[in-house]
Amino acid sequence: MWYLNAVFGDKDVSAMDLLLLSSSTAGNSGYLQAALPLIQQQLAGKQRIVFIPFAGVSLSYDAYVNKVNQALGAGGLSCHSIHQSNNYVAALEQADAIVIGGGNTFALLHQLYQHDLLTLIREKVAAGCCYTGWSAGSNVAGLTIRTTNDMPIVEPPSLQALGLLNCQLNPHYRNENIAGFHGETRDMRLAEFMQLNPTTPVLALPEGSALRLRGENLQYLPGAASEPAYLFKAGQKTALAAHVALPYCQNASS
Ligand code: ASP
Repeated sequence: MWYLNAVFGDKDVSAMDLLLLSSSTAGNSGYLQAALPLIQQQLAGKQRIVFIPFAGVSLSYDAYVNKVNQALGAGGLSCHSIHQSNNYVAALEQADAIVIGGGNTFALLHQLYQHDLLTLIREKVAAGCCYTGWSAGSNVAGLTIRTTNDMPIVEPPSLQALGLLNCQLNPHYRNENIAGFHGETRDMRLAEFMQLNPTTPVLALPEGSALRLRGENLQYLPGAASEPAYLFKAGQKTALAAHVALPYCQNASS
């Protein structure tokens, strides 16, 4: 059960409905194309889907929500972007689903702090509002953003994130070792995190994969990923596949 404790801690997750995608694309798929069936499954019938575009840096928020709506439209879904509302708190209060896209995780968290939205999002999600995130949007579902792959291009007031799960996330996981390249591999970076934070687990999600939590039922969905997810804790790297038989923890095929 240590794995479940690592992800949930003593949180009451019975009302929570989370879909945490490692990436918006998988292999050569179109934008959100591979994940669309999962997103549809989670968000079908939701009246008020609120999109948070704050991780977008190299495109405007308008362009970002248009891109997302174009992708979601293929699945009969559409969202309202929070930046188009004149009252961000009211927009979120009315949401029955919150969607946070990828980009730069520091920019995203900085804006969430600037608009004082973290507590409200936590409360909404604990009470059953769906949460869909990809990449940076998955990072902020963890305890802190200390295991993002991004550069700190802005300085948020804190690295503390939403803490919807009792662990860190590392999206786009790939432990590539390039011949002749002497920078750190992903595992080396995660080993450094574990060295200084031995009791904090990190869940690494390979590109194309997702984590789905619904009513205490946790699933790792490998999707296009040919790898399991990995849990890094106290110097150990453990494949999630070794734990899929645990209660509440099934792989996609079970
Ligand atoms: N930059 C990534 C994203 O697409 C986040 C990450 O790699 O940590 O949102």
